[in-house]
Amino acid sequence: MFAEVAFPISGFLTFTYKIPKDLSQDIQIGSRVKAPFGSRNAQGIVTQLKSASSFKGKMKEISGMVDDLAIMTPELWKLIQWMSQYYITPLGQVAKTVLPNNLSTRYTPPKNWVVHPNPIADDEDLELVKKRAPKQYDVYQEIWRAEKPLKVSSLKDLASNPLNVCRGLEKRGLVSLFEESLLPDVTGFTFDPIHKKVDFNDHQKTAVDAIIKFLDSRKYSPFLLHGVTGSGKTEIYIEAVRHCLGQNRTAIILLPEISLTPQIAGRFRAVFGDTIALWHSKLTQAQRSWTWKEICKGSFKVVIGARSAVFAPLKDLGLMVIDEEQESSFRQDSPAPRYHARDVALMRATYEGSAVVLSSATPSLESYYNYLHKKLTYLYLPERFGGAKYPQVHLVDMLADQDESGKFGQILSGLLQDKIEDRLNKKEQIILLQNRRGYSPVVRCGDCGEIVMCPQCKVALTFHRKGGKLVCHCCGHFETKQRETCVSCSSPNMKYSGTGTQRVESLIEETFPHAKLARLDMDTARTGSGLTSILKAFSNGEIDILLGTQMIAKGLDFPNATLVGIINADLGLHLPDFRAGERIFQLIYQASGRAGRRTKPGEVVIQTYVPDNPVIKNAAKLDMKKYYNIALSERNELKYPPFSWLAKIEITGQNQTAVDSLSKRIFKSLQGKYKGLDILGPAPCYLEKLRNQYRFQIVFKSLKTNDSNGQKLHKFIQNNFMDFQKKFRSGQNRINIHFDPLSLI
Ligand code: ADP
Ligand code: ZN
Ligand code: ZN
Repeated sequence: MFAEVAFPISGFLTFTYKIPKDLSQDIQIGSRVKAPFGSRNAQGIVTQLKSASSFKGKMKEISGMVDDLAIMTPELWKLIQWMSQYYITPLGQVAKTVLPNNLSTRYTPPKNWVVHPNPIADDEDLELVKKRAPKQYDVYQEIWRAEKPLKVSSLKDLASNPLNVCRGLEKRGLVSLFEESLLPDVTGFTFDPIHKKVDFNDHQKTAVDAIIKFLDSRKYSPFLLHGVTGSGKTEIYIEAVRHCLGQNRTAIILLPEISLTPQIAGRFRAVFGDTIALWHSKLTQAQRSWTWKEICKGSFKVVIGARSAVFAPLKDLGLMVIDEEQESSFRQDSPAPRYHARDVALMRATYEGSAVVLSSATPSLESYYNYLHKKLTYLYLPERFGGAKYPQVHLVDMLADQDESGKFGQILSGLLQDKIEDRLNKKEQIILLQNRRGYSPVVRCGDCGEIVMCPQCKVALTFHRKGGKLVCHCCGHFETKQRETCVSCSSPNMKYSGTGTQRVESLIEETFPHAKLARLDMDTARTGSGLTSILKAFSNGEIDILLGTQMIAKGLDFPNATLVGIINADLGLHLPDFRAGERIFQLIYQASGRAGRRTKPGEVVIQTYVPDNPVIKNAAKLDMKKYYNIALSERNELKYPPFSWLAKIEITGQNQTAVDSLSKRIFKSLQGKYKGLDILGPAPCYLEKLRNQYRFQIVFKSLKTNDSNGQKLHKFIQNNFMDFQKKFRSGQNRINIHFDPLSLI
């Protein structure tokens, strides 16, 4: 027998190997094997089994298996093949993204001793304990008082070796001890389980019933669950998962960034306990492997995680939920395969016959369009749960405001200041959004205008007050030495302009010295526990004002937060990208949705310099449909998705002239142009230079009226780029293919 093996290399070739006798039973399509490759023994994946081979030379043998259990399902293997085709990425590379590196680990999760009291202890026995072993008696009292099983380690205050004491109590028959595994969820990530009584309103019932009906059909069924913020979407996922488990099937919940959504994970844990695995980027290699294997063995029925949880090797997958489906974090941009977890989920669902729920208060324009074109079943929750009112929104024209006050360059308008003051007095909480971190995003010479740039990227350095650093937000380059004079004209007149979260933070500290303030951005939330502790403190009321970047706009549910302030709604609005408007609309709408989610009414203050801009105007009215219609007609006019299929070729390298001329060569070589295909470029990318790499791009738009399923564009890109390495002898320069790119900058 022979096997074709694909390795994680950038070419599409597979290689033929002999299968040794002793492995012939074990090797299957999709098995990972080790085989001699060049001078080393490399890890690859079997893509085909054959009884004959036409290869004439001396054939090498597979040297061994990588895994000791079947790590894949047939559906997952189909999915890998589809991704290789769709995203034009070699199988070996796709497999490397989908499967954890190495499953042969000895990791087992740590265990905790847990103790609980046995029913009816004889009072006389207890008296005896009290006399003879007072320490045991104290510990027993504590265990008895607790209403749930206790971690033995939590009794440390009462005894230096609580386990010994508990063993003593166990001997007397007073308590029972057992061991509980600590699942690798990176303790501190999740909120404590929340238990609540759920009573669905009519809209929720309709949505749940529809999902359940399709689950029962066991056929591919995609939904768009569009529910305003606070309408109870999460409770619907929970109910759908419950039904799915009842059918003896499994489920995947994808969250945009699991570390940012600890509340949701906590809610699932409360309901489903240990059948849930968490899958996210903060797991260690060993935890990943262990989790993967346990999923293969069937120990977990539900996987909650970020983008790559879409590959969880669950069997009998009944349901996938994609929460906040419009979020760009579902897209992997680098390395290849450059995939979108939402699209992969829809594909996987067709193989598995599962239901997929795309869920959002602000769906992506694509999904909205797909619903209009009946590709998705639409479920709508138009009201907040429990009668909570939608917030009242104030739009502040910052120019007019400053004309009136005579104070220019103000960060906080008079209105926002008053509202903050008012909430502080009422002991209600405030969320402030400024979607830019650092102190001052641009450092500029006051005389000649020269901007301090990153030496590796064509990007301005951001000044961070903490540590007094200049930092590049693209590559991480930083300088601790202050620029005292301009490199171009030697003027000492250096100006720190622009406003990041740190500048807002110091302004708030000056203006409201008694308020307790916390800042949440990539700098303070580097660790999951940093983030969780800030969110917990806000939830407990230890913080009055939570200030942050887009991180604070998503998924958070705090009943006492009644004011949301958007410091500068225009940030990012003018980026030269066809999705810029959609993104800003979604951000403002989502952030506004954090205000007044329960009984206390909410208010939102949006500060802008362009109050008439349709994005800002409609976001302030919370009028999604109106804005989406405007955006759709713009996209239609400019032939952007969802009216076309989009692909982008990125050409990068260290030498600007070489990259430029390679781009031109590629452009000229393009063959087989068809009607309805627009090719733009080659042109420098918006970020022309990143990490010392110059970047050029060519953009392809294929009109759906001519290319309804994108096949034409796929063929075109495949024909022109499958073997680009050989064809263009690109040397050190790289060519990356992006299918359905989220942005063109
Ligand atoms: P969304 O995800 O749509 O923003 P959530 O699911 O977070 O909304 O719901 C908002 C709040 O209302 C949550 O605290 C949630 O537990 C509560 N809630 C929603 N639906 C119900 C229900 N049917 N019964 C009880 N509480 C509910
Ligand atoms: Zn200067
Ligand atoms: Zn840089």
